[in-house]
Amino acid sequence: MQTRNLIGGQWVGALSGREEPVNDPATDEQIAMVPHGGSLDARAAIEAAYDALGGWQQRTANERAKLLHRLAALMLERQERLAVLMTREQGKPLAESRGEIGYAASFIEWAAEEGKRLYGEIIPASHADKRILVLRQPVGVTACITPWNFPAAMITRKLGPALAAGCTMVVKPAPQTPLSAIALGELSIEAGIPAGVVNIITGDAEAIGDELLSNPVVRKLSFTGSTGVGKLLMAKAAQNLTRLSLELGGHAPFIVFDDADLDAAVQGAMATKFRNMGQTCICANRFLVQDRIYDAFVGKLLEVVKGLKVGRGSDAGVHVGPLINDAAVQKVEAQVEDAKAKGARVLAGGCRWAGPAGLSNRFFQPTVIDGFTDDMLINRQETFGPVAPLRRFTTEGEALRLANDSIYGLSAYFYTRDAGRLMRVAEGLEYGIIGANDGGPSTVQAPFGGMKQSGFGREGGKYVMSEYVEIKYVSWGGVGSA
Ligand code: ADP
Repeated sequence: MQTRNLIGGQWVGALSGREEPVNDPATDEQIAMVPHGGSLDARAAIEAAYDALGGWQQRTANERAKLLHRLAALMLERQERLAVLMTREQGKPLAESRGEIGYAASFIEWAAEEGKRLYGEIIPASHADKRILVLRQPVGVTACITPWNFPAAMITRKLGPALAAGCTMVVKPAPQTPLSAIALGELSIEAGIPAGVVNIITGDAEAIGDELLSNPVVRKLSFTGSTGVGKLLMAKAAQNLTRLSLELGGHAPFIVFDDADLDAAVQGAMATKFRNMGQTCICANRFLVQDRIYDAFVGKLLEVVKGLKVGRGSDAGVHVGPLINDAAVQKVEAQVEDAKAKGARVLAGGCRWAGPAGLSNRFFQPTVIDGFTDDMLINRQETFGPVAPLRRFTTEGEALRLANDSIYGLSAYFYTRDAGRLMRVAEGLEYGIIGANDGGPSTVQAPFGGMKQSGFGREGGKYVMSEYVEIKYVSWGGVGSA
């Protein structure tokens, strides 16, 4: 496969000639070298995206949709190959990689159809001889900066709607997982998407980001990543008032009320906590469990957690693969040590997993911690690892107060069988995505995005198109009367 940058339909190395390695997190083995691009490479990609813009906008939404459907079909046709590649560079279990390719393709398909429905409006005016026309037009050249935890889906969520709306895009994937991005670039060419509509550059994140936000040609940047980097990008976007969508960190509470179906709650907890080794921005980070059922819930959870198989993502039956890099494991370790030092009890796991020879030391055992408190790091910091900390609460009001006590507002979960409570708590949680008796709310039809320091903008559903569209109003005078 290709391992270079895609600019204007050409596969090219970095202008500086520099390269950087891509490693398998499960073994530390180097699997490829990719270009280490910088601001000049970014500028070339922006120019290519600009050159392609006119032709792409002039196509009808139906023509663009056909090409996008072809891209989605190719992704599904090559699902296995793409999944193997993803597991290799990212580490997640192969079954999850397969799932992600399907999920990623769904965003392309969905956007292809939504692009056909960018309707305008005619609004009655206050003057008899005037009409007010509202047009929805593509914003122009767009860019995205994406993370390593979902190497394909975080790109297609942005690329699909951008292209469907008639925008062109420069994609900067995460340095840990550029190969999945490059593979998508290859498929975009095979699907017949014209040169320059999709451009991919790997390399120096800061230099590329700076060019994307200082170059006035780029009208929109969509970013998924940490809150810290999101804030930096927002400050830089002030230069040209570049439009932004920011999908940032999270610190999801997971509330189990004493009227919940406990088996369903455990199943939901497993889905949201241990998927992708706990490295998703919507992972449950704090479990709040009501007094009366605390012990029963913990007992059931432990039973399932102890059955999780740790290992290389490509090995059959593995549920928990390696974390992405050393810093990730160190952060998880530091949170667990801090919790222990401040009085929490480790009920399962609690340290790295020592696997067979040949594997890296980036594996962390699925961990359950009893009795986390306000002062612990794990109560504030995103964990991004397979650690489930639990604490008790007594009343609904207390649960809501604890749940909302966070700078983040991305996702929250709760389990109850009381319909009134379900509505009350859903309304009371200050989070953009609520899993009410559901541990897996992400889906293409729904608006995904956060509140507070989890960012703004929505991806998915009919809402996503507005991220890539300008609203223009034409005041049409002189209509007169016959
Ligand atoms: P994580 O800590 O999970 O890697 P980051 O927010 O650091 O999350 O990374 C998400 C994406 O942002 C990656 O593509 C990364 O290369 C990019 N990135 C990191 N720092 C910067 C920066 N200063 N400017 C632009 N992009 C950045």
